[in-house]
Amino acid sequence: LHYNRADGCKPLDQDVINKIAAGEIIVAPMNALKEMMENSIDAGSTAIEILVRDGGLKLLQITDNGHGIEVSMLGRSGVNADYEQKDDLPILCERFTTSKLKDFDDLRSIGTYGFRGEALASISHIAHLRVTTKTAGSSCAWQAHYQDGKLIPAKPGQSPDPKPCAGRPGTQITVEDLFYNIPNRRRAFRSPSEEYTKILDVITRYAVHSEHVAFSIKKHGDAGAGFSVAAAASKVDRIKQAHGAALAKELIEFKTENDKWGFTASGYCSNANYSSKRTTILLFINHRSVESSAVKKAVEQAYQLFLPKGGHPFVYLSLEIDPARVDVNVHPTKREVHFLSEDEIIDMVCEEIRERLTQVDTSRTFKTQT
Ligand code: ADP
Ligand code: MG
Repeated sequence: LHYNRADGCKPLDQDVINKIAAGEIIVAPMNALKEMMENSIDAGSTAIEILVRDGGLKLLQITDNGHGIEVSMLGRSGVNADYEQKDDLPILCERFTTSKLKDFDDLRSIGTYGFRGEALASISHIAHLRVTTKTAGSSCAWQAHYQDGKLIPAKPGQSPDPKPCAGRPGTQITVEDLFYNIPNRRRAFRSPSEEYTKILDVITRYAVHSEHVAFSIKKHGDAGAGFSVAAAASKVDRIKQAHGAALAKELIEFKTENDKWGFTASGYCSNANYSSKRTTILLFINHRSVESSAVKKAVEQAYQLFLPKGGHPFVYLSLEIDPARVDVNVHPTKREVHFLSEDEIIDMVCEEIRERLTQVDTSRTFKTQT
């Protein structure tokens, strides 16, 4: 029998493997944007500007005023006297390049999610990526282009080395032609406006959560901001900008914590005057936006006695849980997140919400009766 390798099994090309892996992390433009926005927030930014074209498929650009990229400054190769910021840029898009994690022990105590050091690397395999960044200590900004994890020239024939340029402190990341080299995936996106809606959803979630940070998003070609919020805006203002004044005037603040289960919970929930066609839950665990169907189900149950049939609440909930109790290896695109003592923690949070709803309800009944 003659076995022909060419039409039988053969190992996948490394390039194909990289593209498949990247496509699992970056499923849609909103995944790329979420990763980049978390990086900007991690960098201590107080202003984040986003520009989107064709639902992020043509262009996704995020500009921040954070500390700038300094991968090696934070533990990689150590700092020497003639360190320059551009020395960090060649390795930036290699997998597992991160300034946030030094060894495996950190992995258990760190509060961040995502595939550490994989976001920018992944994007470089499936889009055209340009990075401009300036740290406080750098005399100028540096710009670099990436493809498949490595530096590439801005134009054919030029050197791939980072180029000095003018720029303000912070980082700008430009992602163009997402999925240009995965045509099937690219074609699967029928509606740029649907992708834009998903992008707006992630941005407004972070805008509600991230106090002291200004956000603005613009659609390319559109005059005016699609959404914006000032750095000084309060939590309620942020919710108002994102979800409207009708909701903002019916919010109750809540807070609860428990040592035994190792968590603190705080947030805002709608009162019994407010009811919507759909439940909105903005859930943050250790400052990362996540989803949990267990939380959603419990919240809906908590409101059952307070809302008319078919009416649904709004809840913004920020949970801080001992990082050792959260599964940090959660896939960034995975919708669900799990943590230890989930049922107990969710019960306690919902009990607090129910109590607050009852208080507001009885005070109102009391007022109308007298
Ligand atoms: P991770 O966030 O898991 O470390 P990423 O691929 O998202 O991995 O980013 C790699 C590294 O690049 C980060 O650890 C950080 O040091 C740096 N970085 C990325 N984006 C920014 C940014 N906006 N500002 C400053 N540093 C950044
Ligand atoms: Mg990241």
